[in-house]
Amino acid sequence: MFDTLQDRLAATFKNLRGKGRLTEADIDAAAREIRVALLEADVNLAVVKDFVAAVKDRARGTELSGALNPGQQVIKIVNDELVTILGGETRLLRFAKRPPTVIMLAGLQGAGKTTLAGKLALWLKSEGHSPLLVAADLQRPNAVNQLQVVGQRAGVQVFAPEPGNGAGDPVAVAKASIGEAERRLFDVVIVDTAGRLGVDADLMQQAADIRDAVSPDEILFVVDAMIGQDAVNTAKAFAEGVGFDGVVLTKLDGDARGGAALSIARVTGSPIMFASNGEQLKDFDVFHPDRMASRILGMGDMLTLIEQAEKTFDAEQSAKAAAKLTGQGGEFGLADFLQQMQMVRKMGPLSKIFGMLPGMGEIKDQINNIDERDVDRIEAIIHSMTPTERDNPKIIDGSRRARIAKGSGVEVSEVNGLVNRFFEARKMMTSMASGKMPGMPGLPGM
Ligand code: GDP
Repeated sequence: MFDTLQDRLAATFKNLRGKGRLTEADIDAAAREIRVALLEADVNLAVVKDFVAAVKDRARGTELSGALNPGQQVIKIVNDELVTILGGETRLLRFAKRPPTVIMLAGLQGAGKTTLAGKLALWLKSEGHSPLLVAADLQRPNAVNQLQVVGQRAGVQVFAPEPGNGAGDPVAVAKASIGEAERRLFDVVIVDTAGRLGVDADLMQQAADIRDAVSPDEILFVVDAMIGQDAVNTAKAFAEGVGFDGVVLTKLDGDARGGAALSIARVTGSPIMFASNGEQLKDFDVFHPDRMASRILGMGDMLTLIEQAEKTFDAEQSAKAAAKLTGQGGEFGLADFLQQMQMVRKMGPLSKIFGMLPGMGEIKDQINNIDERDVDRIEAIIHSMTPTERDNPKIIDGSRRARIAKGSGVEVSEVNGLVNRFFEARKMMTSMASGKMPGMPGLPGM
């Protein structure tokens, strides 16, 4: 799911990587690419327009945060805006003060309502509730039977009309189920209603009648994400005909583009509350806009890293280091090196930080071999140096190296290694300092 969109956005961010600052032209180019990416993902045009405008606005208006380079800032903005169009906060089910809580499912035939009824029931059971499934879909000959099968699989009771008796009056069945739930102490009632192949007036009327008969606490509009933009149109029709409180997206497992998911909350103004992603009852989850956004960006961990960088970043210190690296404000010495290293370290174990960077898969073994103790030794070595040595490592000759090794309890070869690596790192950081993030020396790709 979202594969193409993910690739497209990744390419956009790649172009921004390594830029020292974003020009108007960079922002325009990125906005254009994001627009194409969203349109290709079949996102509603109005939503795309709003989205791109918001990203552009914020990209232009942002203070250049010292902690993030411009590419990362755009990732963060796009992520925030994705969360917003997906509905913002996670919207949890509202339970009635006095049970039973009545949940009514509405949607077209084949949307996955009956399956969802089972999934929801199983999930509610796992949350400590005792749900009752109600077969108010009397349109399809096999619907009652199907709900009974689903109920059995979920291990929950199903309320259905006796064959021949009252069959054909879904409103009466729905109404009777509430009394049944009260008597038998079910605390949630899930009413499965009939769907048609397309939107029609009879269908809406029946759903509205059931709604009036049971006064649901939540009406959930169930929609197949694979139908793309049609999902948005169907949602509008149901919003007018019956009204609903939340959306359930089904068949997300088959939806490669994600257009429905990205359009529906914004277009309907109703939150996506649950997502179904498979035929099994367990293939179901509460919908979290933030998690979905980072899945779309395919860089969930990267975002964590960005947040951590923002939190631990010491702007003043880094500005000083950056100035030194670009030849202003003295020479970049070992003390600065240590400070920068410690700042990166504050974000967490180095192996974890490297592991969170995208594209690090190929050097996974090396990452796993990073030994935190090596970093401790580097710290010890630098601490054994005099301030003059730290400021001007060039003076560290053979006898000084021997003294430092002794002071820090390491072999002379390790001191040699560190000094040599420092010179290499400084060379690399100097060339990076103009365009890259000063606070994160040597982190590849950042
Ligand atoms: P209803 O007519 O709205 O009650 O829809 P059903 O619950 O009968 O589902 C229609 C078809 O979609 C069935 O074959 C289900 O197995 C299938 N289905 C439902 N939800 C999902 C889902 O999340 N993923 C996939 N792949 N299939 C689903």
